[in-house]
Amino acid sequence: MLGLMQEWPLLCHKILDHAGIQHAHREVVSRSIDGPIVRTTYAEIRQRALKLAQRLERDGYRQGDRIATLAWNTARHIEAWYGIMGMGAIYHTLNPRLFPEQIAWIMNHAEDKALFVDLTFLPLVERIAPAVPSLRQVILLTDAAHMPQTTLPNAIAYEEWLAEADGDFRWKEFHENTAAGMCYTSGTTGEPKGVVYSHRSNVLHAMMACMPDAMGISSRDVVLPVVPMFHANAWGLAQSGPMIGAKLVMPGARMDGASLYELLDTEKVSFTAAVPTVWLMLLQHLEETGKKLPYLKKVVIGGAACPRIMTRKFEQNYDVEVVHAWGMTEMSPLGTLGTLKPECEGIKGEALLDLKAKQGHAPFGVEMKVTDDNDRVLPWDGKTFGRLKVRGPAVARAYYGGVGAEQFDDDGWFDTGDVAHIDASGYMQITDRAKDVIKSGGEWISTIDLENLAVGHPEVAEAAVIGVRHSKWDERPLLVVVRKPGAEPAKADILGFMEGKVAKWWLPDDVAFVDEIPHTATGKIQKIALRKQFGDYRLPTDSGLLQEGETL
Ligand code: ADP
Repeated sequence: MLGLMQEWPLLCHKILDHAGIQHAHREVVSRSIDGPIVRTTYAEIRQRALKLAQRLERDGYRQGDRIATLAWNTARHIEAWYGIMGMGAIYHTLNPRLFPEQIAWIMNHAEDKALFVDLTFLPLVERIAPAVPSLRQVILLTDAAHMPQTTLPNAIAYEEWLAEADGDFRWKEFHENTAAGMCYTSGTTGEPKGVVYSHRSNVLHAMMACMPDAMGISSRDVVLPVVPMFHANAWGLAQSGPMIGAKLVMPGARMDGASLYELLDTEKVSFTAAVPTVWLMLLQHLEETGKKLPYLKKVVIGGAACPRIMTRKFEQNYDVEVVHAWGMTEMSPLGTLGTLKPECEGIKGEALLDLKAKQGHAPFGVEMKVTDDNDRVLPWDGKTFGRLKVRGPAVARAYYGGVGAEQFDDDGWFDTGDVAHIDASGYMQITDRAKDVIKSGGEWISTIDLENLAVGHPEVAEAAVIGVRHSKWDERPLLVVVRKPGAEPAKADILGFMEGKVAKWWLPDDVAFVDEIPHTATGKIQKIALRKQFGDYRLPTDSGLLQEGETL
């Protein structure tokens, strides 16, 4: 027997309808690419998204077409997403931090037909557009007055293009499993892989994200999504913000400490989210200026492990709650969030920082397990680590074009490529990427734990740990350090600082000082490049020969 409730497909434009009706006058504030702060409302964004959908249809775009965006977080980018989805096309966010050849490869793979682009990226687009034959039109997110000279034959100013539609348009109706958006993983190994979100997965993910033990935002919040819409969907905030009716503050192209502080302060932001690198810049700015954060209540930190010192500073010096989160493009992207369950009541001081160093627990809609190399499920004891696998309605079930099939199994589990343990209360902690974990004498050493520990040293600016070949142990950890300006810590000093805080056999065998650690386009440490750089490195502990009686 079927239930007798209405079939109300979970379509993304319903989120914007809700925001435009229930929260019509709530502001969306953007730092525009041209410079000034601009203000609009959900009602206006909805009206303009309707025009955008109408105009796209008039220009001949059809359901299922991929329409790319190469843009910062602004209200225009939001209306572009909703307009594209509302006429049944698929928004495809491009990450400008990738190499131009990689962007062209991704656009060709997705067969993008049109591109909405911020002026910042015009030189980039002029370079790659000739290599993308499917591209029919480039819409520059500006008005006629700011329209620059361009070599692109098919470029048009957004405001003029939009003004030709009157907004008398009805959103298209289709099945909730229809594709809504696309985002490629940055492809640190192999070619980038396309993740295709559906309307249903986006709506369910937005609901999950809003829940009190997830991001816990409400219409009374002022939300600053610093994490870009082009990187893992701005962690869903362009959907959960309007769904909940929160005021949004969009930072545009400027994410330095001073610019972010200005928005946090003048717009009275209560909730924000970004990767650790961004918060490092803000904290530096606060320390240099002596400013405080009177309005900010919560900051979600993820994308890379949140250093303990960062949590300590936000919570103890600025009275801002830190929620450490983990996720990935393939998960829309939220996987776990480190909000406190009742069983954590009473945990304080260093023990609380230990808990907050974990990436958190899964909200409804994310199932997790940790397995060994033989796919046996490992216990939730907070120490046995293995491959982290997930499933849920907002988790990918395949990549676009069927590549990477080995990451998905028949029971619907997706192998995240992360290595983690889970404790009895359900808190998960990432200990490594599967390809980065160090296997010393058959036992695994977590590089992330060692890195977090090393950056706690007052003279260390950045640290990375890689496995280096060792004739006895197979691999042993090498700590690569960028020193703080003017500081000259000795190797023994840093290793001494780490001693006693991890198992003795985990301690790096050596420390190498470098001026710079290479990063990927999305700001993660490029371990592949580091491993290459130290490919011939001989550790002082490696005699090169096996001692008598020793085995590998
Ligand atoms: P990319 O395309 O660069 O892989 P993602 O944002 O999808 O971009 O990256 C997801 C990966 O980032 C995860 O699989 C994990 O390795 C890492 N990651 C995300 N959040 C955290 C975190 N809080 N701590 C440690 N690693 C994290």
